Amino acid sequence: MSSPDDGAEAPVHILWLNAGLSCDGDSVALTTATQPTIEEIALGALPGLPKVAVHWPLIDFDNGPIGSRNDFLENFFKAERGELEPFVLVVEGSIPNEAIKAEGYWSGFGNDPKTGQPITVSEWLDRLAPRATIVLAVGTCATYGGIHAMAGNPTGAMGVPDYLGWSWKSKAGIPIVCVPGCPTHPDNLSETILYLLYQAAGLAPMIPLDEALRPQWLFGATVHEGCDRGGYYEQGQFATEYGQPECLVKLGCWGPVVKCNVPKRGWVNGVGGCPNVGGICIGCTMPGFPDKFMPFMDAPPGSLVSSNASKTYGGVMRKLRSITEKKLDAEPKWRHKGRELTTGYAK
Ligand code: SF4
Ligand code: SF4
Ligand code: SF4
Repeated sequence: MSSPDDGAEAPVHILWLNAGLSCDGDSVALTTATQPTIEEIALGALPGLPKVAVHWPLIDFDNGPIGSRNDFLENFFKAERGELEPFVLVVEGSIPNEAIKAEGYWSGFGNDPKTGQPITVSEWLDRLAPRATIVLAVGTCATYGGIHAMAGNPTGAMGVPDYLGWSWKSKAGIPIVCVPGCPTHPDNLSETILYLLYQAAGLAPMIPLDEALRPQWLFGATVHEGCDRGGYYEQGQFATEYGQPECLVKLGCWGPVVKCNVPKRGWVNGVGGCPNVGGICIGCTMPGFPDKFMPFMDAPPGSLVSSNASKTYGGVMRKLRSITEKKLDAEPKWRHKGRELTTGYAK
């Protein structure tokens, strides 16, 4: 899929490798992005955006066999040969460890024309990462391993930074960019792609990343800091069952320590956002997800002290506030009928 105005200007290619251990949830999430939409990016509808050519299994109509006119993999082979320049490599899904077994493979993406054998995802990373201008890991599986990398898994799955190295940099000097979430927030992803395209075109400075390689402006605040139930937490009012409007910490919400902007941003077109609509935060954007947040739906161990403190302090605050509230909820006494002016007006 490429922008319609295919002229002299060489496009920035986006090669999307979604064959890691994955459910494709991040690809699907991206189709709902609104700021910007994927159509705006793919069609070059935003000012200054370079032309892009997207090679994305979810929507690409090229699905022919190797060597045919509509061979989907041809662009991947071209990139490997250094004939596709520049390109952003997007990785979705965790990277299984192919070195821990004697035969077979965990996860592949197309066949090698020379051998007829599947090309594993880790092999694609070895082939393409050195040629890529930018490597973008999308979803918590690709960023940190996610669900497939839980304790006890048989595949030795890991995220792209675990595979390439946390201090790895592309040939353009750009670190791996991680947009976690299970799935990733649609607009967080489309906005990051947009930023990286501007950077590839020389129109934006180096993308600012935090210590877990996440864009700082998207992951700099906690869920709690953007949650619309924060007032209940501060006043020590906690839900005891789902469906209640109060803070969800006692039902297992990890929001106070999780970096994610979903409650502020909403899910699709500003609507939704886990705790805002009654769902506990289970920390899906964090490198420690899911193991360090389990068992889900148990109150986080560290929350006991702070929620008890806020219950005591919040009880007093609520009493004081209810006095002030009563006062403020009544009109001033000089608004009345009669022949006397009691506003304090001085002639
Ligand atoms: Fe699916 Fe979640 Fe993994 Fe994305 S991060 S591929 S949504 S399991
Ligand atoms: Fe914080 Fe979660 Fe309570 Fe929201 S529901 S105020 S994020 S603890
Ligand atoms: Fe994941 Fe929590 Fe953010 Fe929801 S609020 S998307 S569970 S990190």
